[in-house]
Amino acid sequence: MSGNLSFFESVQRNFDKAAKYTNLHKGLLEQIKVCNAVYEVHFPVKIGEEFKVIEAYRVQHSHHRMPTKGGIRYSLNVDRDEVMALAALMTYKCALVDVPFGGAKGGLKIDPKSYSEHDLQKITRRYTKELINKGFIGPGIDVPAPDYGTGPREMAWILDTYTTFNHGEIDAMACVTGKPVSQGGIAGRTEATGRGVFYALKEIFTYEDDMKKYGLTPGLEGKTMVVQGLGNVGYYASLISQTEGKVKIIGVAEFEGSIYNPNGIDIEKLVAFRKETGSILNFDGCTNLETRTAALELECDILVPAALENVITKENAPRIKAKVIAEAANGPVTSEAEDILLAKNILIVPDMYINAGGVTVSYFEWLKNLSHMRFGRMEKRFNHNTYDNIMSTVEHMTGKKIDVKERNIITRGADEVDLVRSGLEETMITAYQQIRNVWMSNPDIKDMRTAAFVCALQKIGSDYENLGIFP
Ligand code: NAD
Repeated sequence: MSGNLSFFESVQRNFDKAAKYTNLHKGLLEQIKVCNAVYEVHFPVKIGEEFKVIEAYRVQHSHHRMPTKGGIRYSLNVDRDEVMALAALMTYKCALVDVPFGGAKGGLKIDPKSYSEHDLQKITRRYTKELINKGFIGPGIDVPAPDYGTGPREMAWILDTYTTFNHGEIDAMACVTGKPVSQGGIAGRTEATGRGVFYALKEIFTYEDDMKKYGLTPGLEGKTMVVQGLGNVGYYASLISQTEGKVKIIGVAEFEGSIYNPNGIDIEKLVAFRKETGSILNFDGCTNLETRTAALELECDILVPAALENVITKENAPRIKAKVIAEAANGPVTSEAEDILLAKNILIVPDMYINAGGVTVSYFEWLKNLSHMRFGRMEKRFNHNTYDNIMSTVEHMTGKKIDVKERNIITRGADEVDLVRSGLEETMITAYQQIRNVWMSNPDIKDMRTAAFVCALQKIGSDYENLGIFP
């Protein structure tokens, strides 16, 4: 932790900054701002011959839409304030990308690396039972997902525990998202947050006049990027930016240190190297930097902090040289640091927008579970046959044969993963256009975070007004 404000206070400060640009009733703003339900629990788990007491949380920030939704984090930094902040961000994030959920978040104060898989399973299952006991999980109540330190494996354990205690519940599969595809998950969920970061950047970089303001040319190709954290979000964000966006990754920061190569770092090879050696340090062609955070201060076009909150503080903000900061992690820039970065004319793309790809595809997974059928099953063959007939007609009319490879590309019906990616890209583009419209139409709004907040607050406000709770 650094700076004077806690993570939750930082979120509240950003909320207040944006609230004055809305025409929402004061009481309504107060209601949107508070956490609706906070559950803190301590439970014992037998690890070897010892009993370990686990500190755990689930926070439902807003019940204006149900179910509530948000990931579960396993980290020693977890505390009540952090989980409240993350749950609040989920509410605004869902509103921004038109995902019809309230925000929630869960956290266990543990270091997952210090437990065996067997023990982690015991802890996860016990936590799930605590959520069931208090009515804090269910397809129409509260739907967890992966976050820092958790992934598809933990989600499968949660599902299995939930279904065991809710035998015969037909929609039980929708009680958690981010599951393995074989356990009711959806193709494209694991990469979704990172892929969403890429789609967002691609859209932002299309506006030539906007880019000019930050000394940038339009388009992602050839832009330099530094990424912090090669976990789920950082890995896919950098890999997809590199392979599909032709971005040059020149710096990487991980737990063990940071590296630099002005000629570009192959992310796939780096991850394989780290798997083998346990570290990113000494990777072929790269210079080891002095500290774990040194890469954040490299000169680059795009800095992608994708590890944890509060990594750019008032202490290191003056040394940040990136033109754009893409907040792939939640809350990486403290409130005080933000003031410094904005004064330096750095574009901050806020977490609540740029990392919303995960919850977007989680929403698709939830819908898949409720429909009990994978996306594309009904229309894939129909589309293929229709396109095939069109190609045959074209061949017949022109008297020319279409190359088989080309024909296969044109006639292919969409698989689940194609539809998921298409829905994700559409979501990220539409949300950015809405944020940009708010920003461009109000000259008093100086930063993208405030514009995103205003956008989210207006949507949540109108949801509440439609409920008739507030005049
Ligand atoms: P993860 O556990 O998969 O990966 C985190 C990575 O960060 C790990 O590789 C870890 O070693 C590294 N790391 C930790 N401390 C570091 C440090 N001090 N310096 C450099 N690297 C460090 O977690 P994740 O799911 O990728 O989540 C990362 C961030 O993205 C979190 O803020 C999370 O809330 C946010 N997020 C995740 C999702 C999702 O779908 N997983 C969705 C939205 C937002």
